[in-house]
Amino acid sequence: GIMLRNDQLDQWDRECFFHPSTHLAQHARGEAPNRVIRTASGVFIEDRDGNRLLDAFAGLYCVNVGYGRQEIAEAIATQSKELAYYHAYVGHGTEASITLAKMILDRAPKNMSKVYFGLGGSDANETNVKLVWYMNNILGRPEKKKIISRWRGYHGSGLMTGSLTGLELFHKKFDLPLAQVIHTEAPYYYRRKDLAQSEADFVAHCVAELEALIEREGADTIAAFIGEPVLGTGGVVPPPAGYWAAIQKVLNKHDILLIADEVVTGFGRLGTMFGSDHYGIKPDIITIAKGLTSAYAPLSGSIVSDKVWNVLERGTDEFGAIGHGWTYSAHPIGAAAGVANLNLIDDLKLVENAGTVGAYLRKSMTEALGNHSHVGEVRGEGMLCAVEFVEDKDDRAFFDASKKIGPQVSSALLSEGVIARAMPQGDILGFAPPFCLSREEADTIVAAVARAVRAVL
Ligand code: PLP
Repeated sequence: GIMLRNDQLDQWDRECFFHPSTHLAQHARGEAPNRVIRTASGVFIEDRDGNRLLDAFAGLYCVNVGYGRQEIAEAIATQSKELAYYHAYVGHGTEASITLAKMILDRAPKNMSKVYFGLGGSDANETNVKLVWYMNNILGRPEKKKIISRWRGYHGSGLMTGSLTGLELFHKKFDLPLAQVIHTEAPYYYRRKDLAQSEADFVAHCVAELEALIEREGADTIAAFIGEPVLGTGGVVPPPAGYWAAIQKVLNKHDILLIADEVVTGFGRLGTMFGSDHYGIKPDIITIAKGLTSAYAPLSGSIVSDKVWNVLERGTDEFGAIGHGWTYSAHPIGAAAGVANLNLIDDLKLVENAGTVGAYLRKSMTEALGNHSHVGEVRGEGMLCAVEFVEDKDDRAFFDASKKIGPQVSSALLSEGVIARAMPQGDILGFAPPFCLSREEADTIVAAVARAVRAVL
């Protein structure tokens, strides 16, 4: 690899590199952590100073098979030597992209028909919105275009997808959300217990909110509803029991499509191949990215159902080729990485491991922290876990935001050698380790979190 002196790297980093989702001024002044990562293996990453850190967030919940997998590296190397690139426009393909499409459909819910490939989760969701708009134009209902998303949902950072995202940070000063996007209640029972006594009451409340929104806007103006099976960036929040069935019923009644954003949950994170399998969701479109290649190469996809595909196909007979494509759609290197990644997930039974070790991690975290006076809730599903901190446990009062409790705990945890993510809204520490996590590594995480929490609270 490239070996530069630390002072040289720091200088170029500050002078040249515009980092995403970063406090630019603090970074420029050298106040923010600028960790330069050099190598990684399994669940550990190593920075330029040789510090070894357990990555309990798998990058950005994407390195699902863990780091340093030679099978994927070799598939990428072979593909780039044989055919680094050819496009997929006007019916072109490569063995890798065609094979991967087949492998995805073999794993997806039965009513899924085709896979459109993109680069990342954001562009895949942009594609999804365009497809449902195109579809409703073909169906002769050009007014049916709005998209319902949830507060605290995360669907990307583009113009449309940043609008779908229901977090203030991603709207502020960007003139978002765009007008076609409307938001509804997040299924966040812990935070909205004021509204309902039981989970079932809260589900009824979410349904009533959705019904009221549809009533207000008019069902004939609403094309689709988008949601993550488990809210991710918005706080790692599994839905209350019965939520998805109840929401799906409302959507069916009003002929509103359901887009399941499985960028985080797809390919095993909940201990099932898709989050839709886990919750019995019947989506019309599924968004995939991250876990598709375990981030060894950028690749995303929109899996469309028969219902959507049939209209699109008919549309092109009537109106000509569909005018939507990226240069890098179905990039062969990404596709080769995807094929190797999905094979590895099967061979090592990583979906199963995500379920069992994920449950173990959550149980151990609950035992270690559940009774702490400033831990409001330990929650999660599969290989996803979150610890939410509160000022007062009984009334679930937030800490003053200026105290930055979440970031403080995550930085104390970093000094313990473990990386977790302080989620952007609320004092929530998120965990999404690689699926190959062992029970011993889970124990290491929990012990480090307990020490970090003690240090700060
Ligand atoms: N959808 C979900 C559920 C995500 O978590 C993310 C990213 O975290 C995205 C979409 C956006 O994906 P990307 O960052 O690859 O554009």
